[in-house]
Amino acid sequence: MPKKYDIIIIGAGISGLLTALVLCKEKKNVLVIEKSDYLGGNCRTYEIDGYHIDTGPHAITSITSGPLKILMDNYFSVLPKFAPIGSYYARWQNELQEIPLTLMQLSFFSILSKRDRILMAGTMIDAVANSSLHKNILEKSVYDYIKNYNFSAKSIKFTDAICYFLSGKSMKETPAWRMLGGSGFVDETNQNDRSVKKHLQKIIKFAKHNYSSQGYPLGGIQNITSSVLNSIPKNRISFNKNEKALKFIIKRNKITGVQTDKETYYGNAIVYSGFVKDLPKLTDKFSAKYKANLKKIKQTKSVTLWLGLKNKIPELFYSGSEVHFDTNTPYWAIPVSNFDSDLAPKNKQLIGFTTVLKEDSFEKQLSKLKHSIFTALPNIKKNIDFEHTQFTIPEKASITTGVKFPSPKSPIKNLYLVGTDTDMRSMGITRASYSVLEVLRFMKEDGMV
Ligand SMILES: Cc1cc2nc3c(=O)[nH]c(=O)nc-3n(C[C@H](O)[C@H](O)[C@H](O)COP(=O)(O)OP(=O)(O)OC[C@H]3O[C@@H](n4cnc5c(N)ncnc54)[C@H](O)[C@@H]3O)c2cc1C
Repeated sequence: MPKKYDIIIIGAGISGLLTALVLCKEKKNVLVIEKSDYLGGNCRTYEIDGYHIDTGPHAITSITSGPLKILMDNYFSVLPKFAPIGSYYARWQNELQEIPLTLMQLSFFSILSKRDRILMAGTMIDAVANSSLHKNILEKSVYDYIKNYNFSAKSIKFTDAICYFLSGKSMKETPAWRMLGGSGFVDETNQNDRSVKKHLQKIIKFAKHNYSSQGYPLGGIQNITSSVLNSIPKNRISFNKNEKALKFIIKRNKITGVQTDKETYYGNAIVYSGFVKDLPKLTDKFSAKYKANLKKIKQTKSVTLWLGLKNKIPELFYSGSEVHFDTNTPYWAIPVSNFDSDLAPKNKQLIGFTTVLKEDSFEKQLSKLKHSIFTALPNIKKNIDFEHTQFTIPEKASITTGVKFPSPKSPIKNLYLVGTDTDMRSMGITRASYSVLEVLRFMKEDGMV
């Protein structure tokens, strides 16, 4: 007799696990089905040769007041500890300068020319001010905003690198609101609020702004996943690893179960946390319009190189991370062992370098990334003790112009969707947390919880 659960969750990445935690604490019996042999998805740390490697470099946003904070306050029994994220730097040749967060800082950001800094400030004020008056103005791409100003090649490279960092896409595909939202100038939580107060808040952010709400989890990104796992009541949860969900069981537009490569399970509701793009592979019940929208979703592939260094190098003596934009392969790097020295063997340093996969082959992109790293930080080459590479899809959907993410409430009754392709606010784990709160809201509305 197949077992019946209150809720079945497909996928044990951070979205699936946070959903499992919330629902178990809401007294539901939950089954989590995960196709890999590990839990955590992209939110994982593993050890090789004494180095503790995260699945990609991570900075966690909005930890003092965002959706993860709400989940931590209400559902976590064990809390992860965060180190302050420090500063975000831009590296160009031998120069390292803090990425400007305010107009004042922009005026001193001498890596770019004075002319371009003044024009950039004007463009940003224009965009933010106009967004308060005209609804969809920030849907335009960053490129559309700046193309007529004749910026220098260096400023274009800088802007493009920041877009890749914030959305995983070039400035031609990144909407202006993502750029301004990611830098904290536009509040992504409620873009429709055009009140005078909100308008003034945006303007104030041009004068006063910092990254004090961001952190790096001590012990590595796994610490967030472990805190979730240790908070889940054991009597309510079952984990089936190495099992892939293949087909939904749907009767009269209502989901009743799921068939995997091993078994069939029944539940009152199913929460799917795999790629929403893959949903049509699990059923043919979606409308052509729904499927066409899913097809439009774009993803970004990333290449990460982790380097362990025999000695700590002075170029990386800082607390924070850096965006290098001098070469044609911009990258984002975090010397994570500066936050937590236990991530590397004694007196050694661990740094994660990540870039977007633009080439057709992983090897080609990796060699371009290495070229960029050794150009920016020539001291590194002779100090390498350890190398490890990763190929990942950081978010299930990149925020690009003209793309709509599906709602967490699917068109099929009792089938909910969670993850970084169901909510457009913020990024990464913060975005995953928003989506979990949305699913909870819909489930409450539907009387499931
Ligand atoms: C290089 C890199 C840098 C990043 N930087 C940051 C950062 O700075 N800040 C930040 O907040 N986030 C960052 N992230 C993003 C963050 O790690 C992810 O957004 C988050 O972990 C995604 O969680 P998820 O649960 O939505 O998806 P995933 O982690 O992809 O989990 C989905 C899970 O579902 C499983 N699954 C899928 N289909 C099925 C099926 N049919 N049956 C069973 N199981 C299935 C998968 O195996 C997987 O375990 C970064 C990620 C990378 C890779």
